[in-house]
Amino acid sequence: MSFSESERSRYSRHFILPQVGEEGQAQLKKASVLCVGAGGLGSPTLLYLAAAGVGRIGVIDADRVDLTNLQRQIVHTTSRVNELKADSAKAALQDLNPEIEVITHPFRLVAENVLKIMADYDVIVDGSDNFPTRFLVNDGAYLAKKPLVAGAIFQFDGQLSVFDRESGSPCYRCLLPEPPAAGAVPSCDEAGVMGALPGVVGGLQAMEVLKLILKIGEPLTGRMLHYDALSARFRELALRKDPSCKLCGDQPTITEPVDHQQTCVAEPGSDLTVQGLRKILESGFNGVLLDVRQPEEHASAHLSGCTLVPLGELEAALPSLDPNQEYLVYCKVGQRSAYAVGMMQQAGISKARNIEGGILAWRREFGTDLLE
Ligand SMILES: [Zn+2]
Repeated sequence: MSFSESERSRYSRHFILPQVGEEGQAQLKKASVLCVGAGGLGSPTLLYLAAAGVGRIGVIDADRVDLTNLQRQIVHTTSRVNELKADSAKAALQDLNPEIEVITHPFRLVAENVLKIMADYDVIVDGSDNFPTRFLVNDGAYLAKKPLVAGAIFQFDGQLSVFDRESGSPCYRCLLPEPPAAGAVPSCDEAGVMGALPGVVGGLQAMEVLKLILKIGEPLTGRMLHYDALSARFRELALRKDPSCKLCGDQPTITEPVDHQQTCVAEPGSDLTVQGLRKILESGFNGVLLDVRQPEEHASAHLSGCTLVPLGELEAALPSLDPNQEYLVYCKVGQRSAYAVGMMQQAGISKARNIEGGILAWRREFGTDLLE
C-alpha cells in the first residue's frame, strides 16, 4: 500500500514508531471500525481513530445534538446543535482527516440490523449509554465474531474491557447475565456525568482499538479496567468466563440477536405537566401521588403527601394497587416514572399518569413549593 505525500506527513510520527511504521499504518488504513454511539465515549474514540488514520469509520447514532451534550461530547459543536449526531460526527472527523472514509448510520441499532451492520467492520466500539444497546452490541459482536471494545461511564466512574470471542475471552453477559429492569438504574441523563470523564475512558477505548488492529501489546481482554476520577485511581479486575453464560457458555441459548427493548412505555396522552399536576393537587386530589425514585432521593426532597415505591419494587407491589384508583407518578426527570406508568397500564391500572420532567421540572417552575 502506498501513501500520498500528505499522508506521509500526517502519519510521520507513526512511521517512526518501530511498533507501527509504514506497515502498521497500512494496517490502520485497511481497517474498519464501527462506533456505536456518537456521545461522550464515542466523541474521543472517533476523533482519535480518525486522527490515527483508521481507513473506514462507521458511526451509528439515531439522536440529534443537544446543548446538554456539549459539556462532554467533544466531537459536536454549538453550531451543530439539532443536527443528527452521526452527521455532526462525520463533519468533525472529515475535517480532522479527509484521507479516511466515514459512514453514517443515523438510526437505532436493533436485533434486526445489528449483524448486517457489524459484518462490514473489523472492530466494534461500544459507546452506548443504555443497557438494552449494551447487551445488543455484546451479543451482536460475539455472534458476528468481531472484537468489541466496550466502555461505560457513570458520574465520576468509568470502566472498559475488550471482549473477543476469537481469543476466548469472557463476554459482557458473563459479568451481568441480563440487563437490569429498565429504569431501575438511573441513566447519565438522570444521575449526571462529569465532563472529561468520557475523554479518559473513550481515549483508552481508542487505544485498545488501535492495538487490536496493529496486533501490538497486550489487549484488555479478560480484564476490566476501572477508573475512579475523584481519587485518580485505576483498578483492574480479572474477568472470568461463565460456563453457564447464555451467550458464550457451554450450552448457549442466545444464538441470534435479541432486543431488550424497554417495552413498558406509557400510552400517548398519559403525560401530565408539572403545571397540570399543581392544579390537580391544589384542587384536592384524592388519588395516589407516587414517587418511584430511590429512598435516598425521596428523603432529600419530595412532593407533600406522596407515597414512595421505588421503581425496582413496583412490579412486586402491582397486585396490591387498586386498579380503580388514580395515580400520578413522578421521579427525578420523568424517565423512570414513564416506565412505571407503562408497567402499571399493562397491569390494568388505566388511570396512571406520568409527570413530565419529574421533580426537576417542578423545582424549575415552582421552587420549593409543596416540597418537603
Ligand atoms: Zn459470556
